[in-house]
Amino acid sequence: MEPEAILIDLDGVLYTGDTPVPGAREAIGYLVEHGYPYRVVSNTTRSSRPTIASRLASLGFAIPASFIFTPAMAAAAAMTAAGRTRAALLATRDVAGELVAAGIQECDTGVQYVVVGDAGDLLTYASLNGAFRHLLDGADLIALEKDRSWMGADGMMLSAGPFVTALEYASGKTARVMGKPSPDFFALALASLGVQPGQAVMIGDDVVTDVGGAISCGLSGILVRTGKFGEDALRSARVAPTAILSSIADLPEYLESGVPGK
Ligand SMILES: [Mg+2]
Repeated sequence: MEPEAILIDLDGVLYTGDTPVPGAREAIGYLVEHGYPYRVVSNTTRSSRPTIASRLASLGFAIPASFIFTPAMAAAAAMTAAGRTRAALLATRDVAGELVAAGIQECDTGVQYVVVGDAGDLLTYASLNGAFRHLLDGADLIALEKDRSWMGADGMMLSAGPFVTALEYASGKTARVMGKPSPDFFALALASLGVQPGQAVMIGDDVVTDVGGAISCGLSGILVRTGKFGEDALRSARVAPTAILSSIADLPEYLESGVPGK
């Protein structure tokens, strides 16, 4: 397949921790040079797009903020499309500011949505109980992501998922998940590129959310052996990646070979 557009995961594909994946910058340079449109599709919910773009710049990647798709963007688009923009935001101030800038009204009364991201220390008993009461009063629950955990600088960290699950358990409501593997999320990025799913490829280090999510939406899915990649996860996955590459550094060669399943 000759893809017409590329969707790229961030963490574990372009960098791990504070270290760029060797060859990743060159791979992005190749896409630009050869006219492959691309977008970055990340499940990051702690940082806004401008913050992500400046972090990428500090790692040597010249990727504009407008190329970056995050669950917060998808949430703002979904709430706006529904014509319901009054929300209680359990998110970092960085991400809350991005939602407000996108037209969401942060409020404590008449709340239509409770939006939960990975908000670290802001997720307290008081903030969660406030959210619970909004849900009892009729608000719907939006999860920016529902990941269980992530690897922090000093060990494993709780992600948004456990807190979303607590609110679901208490309220009896089911969260709408905005990030990968939500089909709406992939669709948002594809729409910005003006391509159909069958014309695009997603490259990521998570066999379930990146590769499985993309394939079930009609995209090709390339798995890289960097970041959180694990042989066990690959063996137990219910989808077969279109291709498996050692890292994104091998993407130019893959695109030139035109041979799927390499
Ligand atoms: Mg990743």
